[in-house]
Amino acid sequence: VVTKPALNIKTLHLKLSVEVELLLWTLRPPITPVLNMLEGDIAVSSGRRAKVCFARSCLWNKSVDGHVYIPYRVSPEYTEVETKLIKKGMENIEKGTCVRFVPLTHQRDYIDIVPQSGCWSYLGSRGGRQTVSLQSPQCLQVGVISHEFMHSLGFVHEQSRFDRDNYVTIMWPNIWRDRLRNFEKFRTESLDLPYDYSSIMYAYSQDGEPTIIPKNSQKIKLGQSSSLSHLDKLKINKLYNCGSYLGICKMDKIY
Ligand SMILES: [Zn+2]
Repeated sequence: VVTKPALNIKTLHLKLSVEVELLLWTLRPPITPVLNMLEGDIAVSSGRRAKVCFARSCLWNKSVDGHVYIPYRVSPEYTEVETKLIKKGMENIEKGTCVRFVPLTHQRDYIDIVPQSGCWSYLGSRGGRQTVSLQSPQCLQVGVISHEFMHSLGFVHEQSRFDRDNYVTIMWPNIWRDRLRNFEKFRTESLDLPYDYSSIMYAYSQDGEPTIIPKNSQKIKLGQSSSLSHLDKLKINKLYNCGSYLGICKMDKIY
């Protein structure tokens, strides 16, 4: 009877320290703005392990009309131009996919887009209100915005694929110690799609030494794009089982 409350406090303390550690990790001051934007941008809470996200447990609900509606709220702190950029980032994802971002009205689950410190998102749908942080002005580039929304949809970085070592070389000496975590392999669902060198889902640094080098050609520039690749769109339509959209982005277009 005496030890039980003590144990609970211990568990609570442990849980809190994990939360605080993860929060600090997420809100770590940027080494360079770009590095901060695209690396270390997946927020994780202790109750939900990011890695189980592909078990289809954290997908957004699909409507009977075949669309996946994602309610959102944009913080009034953003300027008109910034709000337009955020909407462009959404349109990027909507084009050719079954995802539709809709302004929040009465829905329970939604993304709350706020200018907190750094650019980050949770992975997949967490249920209820969930933050997507797009710090102004660093994160307000269409590519970065779409990238963060892709995390909200449930996608991890392309270099986290379990089979990535067949396609890319990770340059471990060039990776900052506190960013190592971004280069962990996840037991992800590849959705039967080939490795995507042109995915928008790369954590990379524009400045400094490269962290990921393609194995087949040094010329491919990873993750430099501001829009989704064909495969990114296909990934969305496959993960969310959007049969009618799969034809729009056919595999033969990719090769
Ligand atoms: Zn990311």
